[in-house]
Amino acid sequence: MLDLINLKNLTLPELKELAASINEPASKADQLFSHLYRPTSKFCQMHNISRKFLSKLNKISFITEMLLHKREISDDGTIKYAFKLADDNIIESVLIPSNGRNTLCISAQAGCAMGCKFCLTSTIGLKRNLQSSEIVGQVLFVIKEVKTIHQHINNIVFMGMGEPLANYENTLKALEILQDEKGLGFSDRKITISTCGITPKLMELAKISNVNLAISLHAIDEAMRTELMPINKKYPLKDLLANCRELSAEQGRQILIEYILLKGINDSEADAACLAKQLKGFNCKINLIPYNETPDLPYKQSSPETTQKFMDILCKSGHLTIIRHSRGNDISAACGQLAGQLKL
Ligand code: SF4
Repeated sequence: MLDLINLKNLTLPELKELAASINEPASKADQLFSHLYRPTSKFCQMHNISRKFLSKLNKISFITEMLLHKREISDDGTIKYAFKLADDNIIESVLIPSNGRNTLCISAQAGCAMGCKFCLTSTIGLKRNLQSSEIVGQVLFVIKEVKTIHQHINNIVFMGMGEPLANYENTLKALEILQDEKGLGFSDRKITISTCGITPKLMELAKISNVNLAISLHAIDEAMRTELMPINKKYPLKDLLANCRELSAEQGRQILIEYILLKGINDSEADAACLAKQLKGFNCKINLIPYNETPDLPYKQSSPETTQKFMDILCKSGHLTIIRHSRGNDISAACGQLAGQLKL
């Protein structure tokens, strides 16, 4: 029996191919694609599309919507959405309102295989890669919600569960749909892909896309980074930084460096000085992230004094540095806490 096609897994060119395969013109695929990313996304609501085309589609395809499992609202206004996927896996997205702007943090995988020691998502392992429809579906769902209060999403960050570059093809497809003017129309500047350092894919992505790039660095010593982030064994820090330097020099690209401060582990003045030295002459912005403690992991948050000292050293060396204050801690929605309340 023929497998039905999930239309939301198709980019516009793929939808045009599908239309051609059932002897329909590409213009109908354009109309259909626009509907898929509007509130009128059910076949029965697509009044300006021919009945003949819809009836052909109905026989070979289907349209999915994300199923909300749980919504939690933090005291600081952050909202965590847990979605139940068709196979019962659960993924999370976090909406962070700040100064009238909304940032949506989305997941690229159910769970994660990268094993970063300080991250709760890593403790559940990788369940599976998300399909592009499931990545884009998180954005679509939240867009509909914020529209009801006359707001919109300003930024999308791939910093939720999973490593987007370990689900490269689906991440690329999701980017294409998110950025297509007939899809959701987000510009490069409004999307950030964050990676723990899958260097070859990072370089591949940088060649074909101008979305913002963020590196989860978290240590400036090879041995320490390998201990905290096992991916460093395969793609060492030295090569990761050399490649980022190349991107900065050749493309003038500013790279976001994320650094979680872990008490007594990577937060010394010597670490700050070494980080400042290693990032010298490279166009980057550094986000220092106070660690969000959880009873399930042994790490502790650096004191505010240590954090300030770390930042001062970086700033004195001329690096644009900010301390990213934690949001949504009370609902386990903060950085590194996703999956904390879920049994996958
Ligand atoms: S920090 Fe990111 S890459 Fe590392 S285990 Fe957590 S979700 Fe995966």
